[in-house]
Amino acid sequence: PAVEEPIHEAVLGRAAERGDTPALIDGVDGTTLTYGQLDVFHRRLAAAFAEAGVRKGDVLALHSPNTIAFPTAFYAATRAGASVTTVHPLATPEEFAKQLRDSSAKWIVTVSPLLETARQAAELAGGVREIFVCDSAPGHRSLVDLLGTTAPEPQRDIDPVADIAALPYSSGTTGIPKGVMLTHRSIATNLAQLSPLLPMGPGDRILAVLPFFHIYGLTALMNAPLRQGATVVVLPRFDLDTFLAAIEKHRISGLFVAPPIVLALAKHPAVAQYDLSSLKYIISSAAPLDAKLAVACAQRLGLPPIGQGYGMTELSPCTHLVPLDAENAPPGTVGKLVPGTEMRIVSLDDPDTHLGVGEAGEIAIRGPQVMKGYLGRPDATAAMIDKDGWLHTGDVGYTDADGWLFVVDRVKELIKYKGFQVAPAELEALLLTHPAIADAAVIGVYNDDNNEVPHAYVVRQPSATGLSEGEVMMYVAERVAPYKRVRRVTFIDGIPRAASGKILRRELRGLS
Ligand code: ATP
Ligand code: MG
Repeated sequence: PAVEEPIHEAVLGRAAERGDTPALIDGVDGTTLTYGQLDVFHRRLAAAFAEAGVRKGDVLALHSPNTIAFPTAFYAATRAGASVTTVHPLATPEEFAKQLRDSSAKWIVTVSPLLETARQAAELAGGVREIFVCDSAPGHRSLVDLLGTTAPEPQRDIDPVADIAALPYSSGTTGIPKGVMLTHRSIATNLAQLSPLLPMGPGDRILAVLPFFHIYGLTALMNAPLRQGATVVVLPRFDLDTFLAAIEKHRISGLFVAPPIVLALAKHPAVAQYDLSSLKYIISSAAPLDAKLAVACAQRLGLPPIGQGYGMTELSPCTHLVPLDAENAPPGTVGKLVPGTEMRIVSLDDPDTHLGVGEAGEIAIRGPQVMKGYLGRPDATAAMIDKDGWLHTGDVGYTDADGWLFVVDRVKELIKYKGFQVAPAELEALLLTHPAIADAAVIGVYNDDNNEVPHAYVVRQPSATGLSEGEVMMYVAERVAPYKRVRRVTFIDGIPRAASGKILRRELRGLS
């Protein structure tokens, strides 16, 4: 059933009664924000935003790494009637300006270390009326200044079905990032679909190291735990030692991560030096996770199997999840369809042909979490959502007889070798099982006979400088059918990744 409630109500409806329970803790300096404070502060900040001129339908750009102030600014903006477009904290002024222009943003909330970028972006884009800072900076109003307001809380007439709560930009893995219009209803409904599968409460401590600005972090690390009364411990960026120390110090119970963090937890020697016994579960999403790697990580930490979720920005974001209490989830699955949602697997050759159990095709989704569309791009929207409301994800997958979904890879990234399809994700997973390989990515390149072949980029373990191209190719050749063999290998210092952990294959293409 759809939840027709503004997002700030859906998440913070019970915040006041939770009073002194910590909502957010700064994982570095320990500063705590209670649920009572979050409730009062976001209402007062909404009043101050309205007093400053924020009107219903305005777009506010939230430009910040993870901090304990981030959620306050987010829910205050939506309560003031604005749509929030979250911005990558490492965006250049030009990239930020593009997003400001594309979204017609009028307001920016930033932090002092990023202020210069925000100023330049606002100047390049035009149309920005004021830049607020979360901490403090001369010449700009800070959140503390704004909280001093005596203006009344704005009474905005929000229509959860039509009004845009969030305008995140897709990761830009396959093309330019597009503004994704998510209504209050689509986000609130998705939260209601997920919560029973991911129960959390006041005793739970979730570590937020993936960015809030990306829809995965926004949902799993901010909206979902705050809706359920858990405590979110916030880190501004991923650094393995700080991350592990925070788990130990704050007795973290649940982690939502992306595959590169699973890789580090499975392989990095530093992991053994920390007491991680408080951990009860790890969930991974955003990119393909190899089943063997997941098992190695869980075993090393003495945890139950790592669960996965599947989603995309355009789906608010989640359609599949392995429930926390699942007993028999098969290794490698991204989960079962969440309630109130439909899925089809359609043939890659003909979208009118629907495939059955075990047959791989494009995943198509229909449900209340489907986006309203891409902002200002009706053609791109129509290319993705058909006239019957089915969103074609661009991902290839199949289900087993019990309805568990397996994601093979993206349609666009499948390598077609002499008519056979090769999934880069499968080869990457295999490469990671080699003890001397620290990280790997595979792309399709054309060889001299004009055949598309797998080209592996490999990061060697620091102790394994002797590993050769030939050895890597042989390792794969011994374990896969001949058409899947890696035909070229390049050693590299690091794999380029998006903030959500996804491999940026177009950057690798630039190298080859
Ligand atoms: P763009 O659409 O701009 O190219 P993007 O698709 O990377 O960027 P996101 O919305 O962040 O932007 O990512 C959604 C994609 O992430 C999905 O389409 C899918 O390819 C991938 N994904 C998400 N969860 C999983 C998972 N559990 N396993 C494999 N892939 C996943
Ligand atoms: Mg996408």
